[in-house]
Amino acid sequence: MCEFCHRHGEGEKWYLQAQNYSQDLLSDLNRRRFIEHFFKNPEMLEKSQEKLDYLNRLPSFVRSILTPFLLKRQKRNHYGQVVPLEDIQKILEMANSVVRLPCVCRKASLGTEERYCYGVSMVPPEEFKLGQVIRSIDADYLNGPEARGLETLTTGEALVQFRDLESKGLCHTVWTFLTPFIGGICNCDRSDCMAMQSTLKRSFSVMFRAEYVAGVNPELCNGCRKCMRACQFGAISYSAAREKAEVDLRRCYGCGICRSYCTNGAIVLNDRSASPIASRLW
Ligand code: SF4
Ligand code: SF4
Repeated sequence: MCEFCHRHGEGEKWYLQAQNYSQDLLSDLNRRRFIEHFFKNPEMLEKSQEKLDYLNRLPSFVRSILTPFLLKRQKRNHYGQVVPLEDIQKILEMANSVVRLPCVCRKASLGTEERYCYGVSMVPPEEFKLGQVIRSIDADYLNGPEARGLETLTTGEALVQFRDLESKGLCHTVWTFLTPFIGGICNCDRSDCMAMQSTLKRSFSVMFRAEYVAGVNPELCNGCRKCMRACQFGAISYSAAREKAEVDLRRCYGCGICRSYCTNGAIVLNDRSASPIASRLW
C-alpha cells in the first residue's frame, strides 16, 4: 500500500474511498482557488518543467536538500497514482457524476484540446461542484476547437471511453487537488504528458506507481512482444533464449496496459505488496 493508502485510505486503496471525492472537500475555499488557478494557467505546467530542469542542474547536495521539500509540497497539493482499468471501473461505479474535459497537460504541451481527462464526484450531476468551478473558469478553455464544453457522461459511457483509451496505450491515473480530494482521472502518455515527463525524464515523481505489478505466465507467452511495445515504462524485455517476455519489477508501474495488448492472456496484475522486489517501490 502506498503512503496515501495509510494516510487517507485507512489501509485500503485511498482512491476507492468515497470520502476523498466528497463535496465537503470541494467546498473548501483554498481548494476552489487551487483548482481555478490550475485550469486557468496551463502554462504553469511548462514553467514547472523548466524549474525541474533547473533543479537537475544544481549541485547534488543542493538537490538532496531541496527535493524532499518540493516532493512534500507536491504530495500536499497535486499528486497522482497509476490505476489499472478494473479499479477505474470501481471508481466510475462509485461516482454519481462524470464529466470529460480537455487535458491541461496537452493544452500546455501541444496547444490542443485532447479530451483525456475526467472529473469525478460522488454527488449528482446537478450538484457537481467541480464541474461548476471548471465551467466558471474560462469559456475558451472549454469551448476551444472542439467546442464541446464539459461532456457529462454516464458510468457506462465513461467506461467505454476508458477501454478505448486503454486500447490506445494510455495509462490511467487519479489526481488530487489539495490532497486527499481526488478531482480527476487522466490518461497519460510519455510523449506529451507533463506528469510522466516529470516522473520519468526529470526524476521528480509526481505520481505513485499502481498498487500492482505485472507478471508474465511463460506457459501462455508466445514471445510476440506486443506487450513490450505497449509498455511506456520500459519494464518489459524479451529473452531470446527462452523466447518469452519478462517484466522487470523494478520498473513496472502496474498500469496493466501490457495485459490489454497480450492476446494470449499471458499477463496478470499481482498485488505490489506481495512482491519482495516491488513492494517498497513507489
Ligand atoms: S504480448 Fe503476451 S504473448 Fe506476446 S510476448 Fe507479451 S506476454 Fe508474451
Ligand atoms: S510492464 Fe505492464 S503493467 Fe508494468 S508498467 Fe509496463 S505496461 Fe504497465
